[in-house]
Amino acid sequence: MLAENQVNRVLVVTAHPDDADFGAAGTVALMVDRGVEVTYLLVTDGDAGGNERAQDNAGMAELRRSEQIAAAKAVGVTDVRFLGYSDGTVVPSLELRRDIARVIRQVRPDLVITHHPDRNYQFVAPSHPDHRAVGGATLDAVYPDARNPYAFPELLRDEGLTEWTVREVWLNGGSAPNHWVDITDALDRKVAALLSHVSQVSHREGFEAFVRERFLQNGATAGLPTGRAAEPFQIVPTSF
Ligand SMILES: [Zn+2]
Repeated sequence: MLAENQVNRVLVVTAHPDDADFGAAGTVALMVDRGVEVTYLLVTDGDAGGNERAQDNAGMAELRRSEQIAAAKAVGVTDVRFLGYSDGTVVPSLELRRDIARVIRQVRPDLVITHHPDRNYQFVAPSHPDHRAVGGATLDAVYPDARNPYAFPELLRDEGLTEWTVREVWLNGGSAPNHWVDITDALDRKVAALLSHVSQVSHREGFEAFVRERFLQNGATAGLPTGRAAEPFQIVPTSF
């Protein structure tokens, strides 16, 4: 596992607005506190989300982009990028791999955080098809696409983007986490980030208590002292 001082740039790749905030906003807040530069890359605008909504999909996309930008700001992230794929129909295509590899070469992160590409049979909620597709495409973009100078040669030829090796990937939502980050000192900021997604959470009664309870439960699972909260990840070394 990379030491903290080996992680200076991080790219978080997710399918929808709010995924980064459920999965990793506490960890991200603590990284930003240490001076790490964090970029969010969202594959869709979440245009098929919402509840009893008045907007069409285009209106929802615009609203959710603005909610994600506000949520990012709540944990100190200002670089938020969107690929504009359609919510609910993402597949791990060559096009998506190229689009993620492009951003990896632009950002040159030490660490990438993304969705687990496998279905979680213990708890299916994190295994939305878009999440699995984005997780798979991101791992493929990390290895081999971004590091192979001959993969997607147009990235070098047309955009001058040279190869880049990401050294570690942290996966969210899997059934076998092997690393827990103590996010207690950032739990309030994580909650604030989640509450920024007004169109998704404002109708959910007791949402804030639910979030706090869930991440305190993760802290207990991680073996942290009572009252400590944690975010779980599966760490995948990718430097080999
Ligand atoms: Zn999602």
